Amino acid sequence: MFHGKWIVDGHADILYRMGKEKLAFYDHENRLHQNYQHLQASGVDLQVFVTFVEPEQTASEQLFEVLDSLHRFRNEVERTDRVQAVLSVQDLQRVLQNGHTGGILSLEGADALNGRISILSTLFQLGVRLIGLTWNGANCVADGVGESRGAGLTQFGRDVVKEMRSLGMVVDVSHLAPRGVWDVLDLYDGPVVASHSNAMSVYAHRRNLTDDQIRAIAASGGVIGATFVPDFIGRSEFLTTDDIMKHIDHLLTVAGEDSVAIGSDFDGIESTLQDLRNGSDYPRLLEKIERRYGSTVLAKVGGENWLRVLMQVLPQGDCES
Ligand SMILES: [Zn+2]
Repeated sequence: MFHGKWIVDGHADILYRMGKEKLAFYDHENRLHQNYQHLQASGVDLQVFVTFVEPEQTASEQLFEVLDSLHRFRNEVERTDRVQAVLSVQDLQRVLQNGHTGGILSLEGADALNGRISILSTLFQLGVRLIGLTWNGANCVADGVGESRGAGLTQFGRDVVKEMRSLGMVVDVSHLAPRGVWDVLDLYDGPVVASHSNAMSVYAHRRNLTDDQIRAIAASGGVIGATFVPDFIGRSEFLTTDDIMKHIDHLLTVAGEDSVAIGSDFDGIESTLQDLRNGSDYPRLLEKIERRYGSTVLAKVGGENWLRVLMQVLPQGDCES
């Protein structure tokens, strides 16, 4: 918690890097951007843990890797008194009220579904609550921004989006090709999020969002998570929090204060901003937002906007997993 406010980070690849580099979440000495020590220092109360998988593998291999990631979360991260899994609205309320740190699971790229709705239901039962439908390439659900065909949702993708709404899962459009973003906005009857994307008007990168997309996500009641990825922020090699503030300024102008949030992409990035090297540096950015916009806007951007979306979408009641 940062000065009495809930802080939510909507996207970090901690589980991926733990697996790839054999790093332990509770080892304070390691290179993870967001190990437990940095998570504590960041003030983040709810961290989205993403199960990113290398894209060049087959869908079946990706499913195995996703299952490995979920196992890693359960066995190496989730501890009763430290990080608690959030599966429902009630879990979220309980974690925040008790002052614990919550962890919520996200799938980045729906390749592992392999055209089967049954796998979507199974991953839901295993605790996954957000899905970024694609990474940069194409899969059974849609095309990502790196696929030149630029197609929208497939028929299976449409089924996935509808089923996610009825299960209580958040649809994440970061990485989707533009047509897919519009398809999701048309089809998903709830708040749509872009968990880790910045503003195209500030810096033209294929992973950033146009003003029309930003306005439409805001109109759905969703959020755009400003992200710390240097490649999406600007051209210089020496970018700082002042440069991500330019994106936050623009997002606030176009989307309004109820639709801007944060999605760091920590542990999914090879380089970092000069003054935002890991979770322990998080307060520098939060202080800048507070200084420029005041404590009410910081509370919304820092966490309340994400929490509103999750309260609206997550299932009610105690979920077994
Ligand atoms: Zn990503």
